[in-house]
Amino acid sequence: MTDVAKPQSVQRPQPLPNDLTSPFWDAARDGVLALQRCSGCARFHHPPLAYCPECHSNSFAFTPVSGRGTVYTYTIMRQARVVGFEDMVPYACLAVEIDEQPGVLVVGNLVEADPESARVGMRVEVRFEPLGEGMQLPQFAPQQQQGDRGSLPLKGSA
Ligand SMILES: [Zn+2]
Repeated sequence: MTDVAKPQSVQRPQPLPNDLTSPFWDAARDGVLALQRCSGCARFHHPPLAYCPECHSNSFAFTPVSGRGTVYTYTIMRQARVVGFEDMVPYACLAVEIDEQPGVLVVGNLVEADPESARVGMRVEVRFEPLGEGMQLPQFAPQQQQGDRGSLPLKGSA
C-alpha cells in the first residue's frame, strides 16, 4: 500500500475566454452549447474563427445547437501526466461531431459512463460541468434512449 504525496497546489486550469470565444463560454455558463455560425453562409465553425474560410465573411452569431452528436474519435487518458488532471484518470477525451453539421467537432470528456465504453460512432449529448466562478465546461454523456428519436435498430436481428 502506497500513499504517494502529490502536490495539491496546482488547480485544474480554467478556460480563459477572449473576444473570439467569450460568447461560447457565456452560453456554457447558462447551460447552452452555442457555436459560432457564419452570417454569410450559415456554416458553423468551432473553435471560433476571425473569418469564415467558406465565404470570407467576418460576421458571426453564436447559435444554440442540440448538444447531440456522434463520437468522431477519442483517446483514453490513463496516465496522470497532465497537470491539474491527475485525479481524473482514467478518463476518455472525445471529439464529437455535432448533429447540425458534418465535420464540426467539439471536444469534451465522457461523463456518466465508464471511460472504457467510449467508441467511435457512439451517440452522445452535452452535459455541463461546473468549474467554479460560474464557469461551466461542456462534456458529453451517452445519449438517453428516450424522446422523439425512438430506438436505434438492433444489429444482427433475424
Ligand atoms: Zn461563411
